[in-house]
Amino acid sequence: DVFYRQLPKVELHAHLNGSVSFETMETLIKRKPHLNIEHSMTAIRRGQRRSLDECFQVFKVIHQLVDSEEDILMVAKAVIQEFAADGVKYLELRSTPREVTETGLTKQRYIETVLEAIRQCKQEEVDIDVRFLVAVDRRHGPVVAMETVKLAEDFLLSSDGVVVGLDLSGDPTVGHGKNLLSALEKAKNCGLKLALHLSEVPSQRDESELLLNLPPDRIGHGTFLHPEVGGSDSLVDKVCKQNIPIEMCLTSNVKGQTVPSYDKHHFQYWYKRGHACVLCTDDKGVFCTDLSQEYQLAASTFGLTQEAVWMLSQQAIGYTFAPEPIKQRLEKKWAELKQQIL
Ligand code: IMP
Repeated sequence: DVFYRQLPKVELHAHLNGSVSFETMETLIKRKPHLNIEHSMTAIRRGQRRSLDECFQVFKVIHQLVDSEEDILMVAKAVIQEFAADGVKYLELRSTPREVTETGLTKQRYIETVLEAIRQCKQEEVDIDVRFLVAVDRRHGPVVAMETVKLAEDFLLSSDGVVVGLDLSGDPTVGHGKNLLSALEKAKNCGLKLALHLSEVPSQRDESELLLNLPPDRIGHGTFLHPEVGGSDSLVDKVCKQNIPIEMCLTSNVKGQTVPSYDKHHFQYWYKRGHACVLCTDDKGVFCTDLSQEYQLAASTFGLTQEAVWMLSQQAIGYTFAPEPIKQRLEKKWAELKQQIL
């Protein structure tokens, strides 16, 4: 639908390697024929469902395909251009810095290469403002987490405002947040904003209780926070009192089977309470979606008017980690476009 494509949008939850499109994936697969990777191994098509565990297998395959500076530059530029083409005006991309001995890739160069892609897109006047969140993969434990935070801290100071925060992600069934607490505290103290995946699976209740005390600046998913799905009033209270926006990824949760169907998505619970919700794609490549489609799905599932959809996208500006002048610039853009589109 034209309205959703024209709607100016803010994307706040997008993992770089999960966002690689079909076309870019084709190029990568052709570049590395010896890996014998087929497209069905890197994307979950329409109507298909996978277990969360299988979803994480998909990332392992993609990581084999994206393992050099050259790959990262190509992938990051393409992803940024695709978001822009979908009407995203402000994007916070996140990615886990990786080291690959065979290609000489270091974590430092990994981040520098993503920043180079962002710089090139800006130079080429792609109509989108892009910021970066350095991601911590919980699977790798506290030592790596602390190293990643130090790296992120360096870039917070040297990247001209492009690196704005830290993400905590990775397989939610592995490890415990208590071991990562000191790294996250350090990140917060040095001025990195925190976007943490919380309660993606039911077993994370105690962890969420703990991590909400930091508190994070935004929550990823938060699928099992509320009491109706085994969370608790105390968790909901903490989220509401501290007014922490929740990043909601409908298709990702349905395809990854943490949510049984679109109409059962926890968006409903939080949106009805007037809580800060932002629609996001999570992994537009893996889950074969885009942000326009996610807005359209939310509207049709929950009966939102175009006015309500507009409000949803506009309010997301307030949940970005962008500095105040950028937020004002975005507000102005939304105000200008509103007359044309709504
Ligand atoms: P990358 O960080 O750019 O390599 O993007 C892929 C990575 O993002 C995965 O290996 C996970 O660590 C993380 N990720 C992507 N989607 C999810 C999710 O739904 N839950 C938790 N982690 C995720």
